[in-house]
Amino acid sequence: MSDTTERIKCLIIGSGPAGYTAAIYASRADLKPVLYTGMEPGGQLTTTTEVDNFPGYPEGIDGPKMMMDLQQQAERFGTQVRIGMVTEVELSKEVGGIHRACVDNATWVEAETIIISTGATAKYLGLPSEQRLRGGGVSACAVCDGFFYKGQDVAIVGGGDTAAEEATYLANICNKVTMLVRKDYMRASKAMQHRVNNTKNLEVRYNTEAEEILGDQVVEGLRMVNNQTGEKEEIKITGFFVAIGHKPNTDIFKGQLDMDDTGYLITKGKSTKTNIPGVFASGDVQDKEYRQAVTAAGTGCMAALDAERYLAEKDSHMEEANAEEKLNA
Ligand code: NDP
Repeated sequence: MSDTTERIKCLIIGSGPAGYTAAIYASRADLKPVLYTGMEPGGQLTTTTEVDNFPGYPEGIDGPKMMMDLQQQAERFGTQVRIGMVTEVELSKEVGGIHRACVDNATWVEAETIIISTGATAKYLGLPSEQRLRGGGVSACAVCDGFFYKGQDVAIVGGGDTAAEEATYLANICNKVTMLVRKDYMRASKAMQHRVNNTKNLEVRYNTEAEEILGDQVVEGLRMVNNQTGEKEEIKITGFFVAIGHKPNTDIFKGQLDMDDTGYLITKGKSTKTNIPGVFASGDVQDKEYRQAVTAAGTGCMAALDAERYLAEKDSHMEEANAEEKLNA
């Protein structure tokens, strides 16, 4: 290994609310963090428009602007924010061991602690009209964007817990919600299905798929197809929500960090600790349930505090070991 490999106390991977909040806390604790932004600097919030549910912004805030503010706040306390993608990691299983991360398949960085905040990516259907109308009425987050469709007609795709929860959330705000489920049953829990079935302005269409979202600049309608009969139908909507699951960005940690069967990192108890000492996980990469900017920020804070405690405990153990060695010499 080259002598010039950079060694840092705290490496933060990911630049969403979790990563930047971890950076604010870690830099204020003098851990001199280095944060690599990943491919989508700012994370999922940069794909949304107005953020109205983050506490502290009475008038709401533009998603990308909020992420720039968070970056500046982290930099103000000394975080080094670098554009780059961590493409490989070698995690030490030893307490106090040094972890290694490769950036852009080129440069290796060594770190005493790593905070993983790589987030999750919403899955989309893959329709060209869906891609074209993103930001023009197509959204993968009802809680973020539902409010813009107050009193209007919208559709949502998916039959899992997220779709069921978001459909009932939308039904509270919107005039009518049409829910498209591709099978003849929902995967959502019985309790969630019960809520869906008891919501008056929510209509579930089973065996139904979205064929095309209609509209040039903004969503104006939806063409649906019954996958059993082939029958097509068009409805007028102004919002189209996709709730068919998320993919956590954890491929580079496979085989090293404990994950559930869908790839979300597993953390211990109420902490952000992973199965590897000195490696912590925060934000959507370890949370498939809440997935909000504010909850991600909360766990980012926890990860920085966990990293700080880990380093302090490690240092005091080493001091004790050194003192014992001197006594025995
Ligand atoms: P899931 O993977 O559970 O469900 C995805 C849904 O989308 C399924 O109904 C699936 O259909 C459908 N789907 C997938 N691809 C397509 C497609 N191309 N076209 C049409 N439909 C499609 O994801 P969720 O995000 O709902 O949930 C993830 C996890 O988080 C689950 O374990 C869930 O229980 C949990 N969760 C829990 C909550 C809670 O407890 N309050 C809230 C939200 C999530 P099919 O069934 O046909 O495969």
